[in-house]
Amino acid sequence: MALTLQERIVAVKERVARACAASGRDVHDVKVIAVTKYVSLKTVAEVLEAGLEEIAESRWQDAEHKWNALGDKGTWHFIGHLQTNKVKDVIGKFEYIHSLDRLSLARELQKKAEAAGIDVKVFLQVNISGEDTKFGLPPEAVPDFLREIAPLHRIKVVGLMTMAPHEEDPELTRPVFRGLRELRDELNLLALTPEPIQELSMGMSNDFEVAIEEGATRVRLGTVLVGHEEGA
Ligand SMILES: *Cc1c(COP(=O)(O)O)cnc(C)c1O
Repeated sequence: MALTLQERIVAVKERVARACAASGRDVHDVKVIAVTKYVSLKTVAEVLEAGLEEIAESRWQDAEHKWNALGDKGTWHFIGHLQTNKVKDVIGKFEYIHSLDRLSLARELQKKAEAAGIDVKVFLQVNISGEDTKFGLPPEAVPDFLREIAPLHRIKVVGLMTMAPHEEDPELTRPVFRGLRELRDELNLLALTPEPIQELSMGMSNDFEVAIEEGATRVRLGTVLVGHEEGA
């Protein structure tokens, strides 16, 4: 029989706790983001009622009705590729944008945040695996990118984000997650941001335990946590 939402939440929390214990990390340093792009508005409401506070969506077209109903509950993350002409829709609604990967997008975020009188918290998306199907800055381009966006004072870089290739054996994703952590540590030695970069948004249903062992501070969990509803 299929697990209930509550059972899935309990199971995921146990797995997060075990991965933290295995790698000597404090469980409070790893936050679970519920990725709700495959589920209905009704399920998003249940997820929030169950006590999960962080919600992520990857397309504004799919998120709009959910955010309109529930946007004042929880913290919303935008994790998908963000088209520049969609910035106006998401700004001020999603507290975190995980997919900053180009200067034109940074400029538009700055412009719309400035107009709204708010700051916008971002993760830089980095393509560690080097697959050409993946969005994200090449790692070697990140220092210059940080220098270029430094004058865009509404943009607060809180972390780095990456996606690993899908692997049958999640252990094979480890070098990708380790690469993102090492990049963060190298960037902090260069001190290109006013505050050190703390966060690593990495790990999905298939590979989150490996990501946690390598330092993830936020895991983005869809299928394993909230399920996948046909036609949602
Ligand atoms: C869909 C998605 C996820 C969650 O995927 P699952 O494998 O269902 O956990 C995480 N991150 C991003 C960027 C996504 O698009």
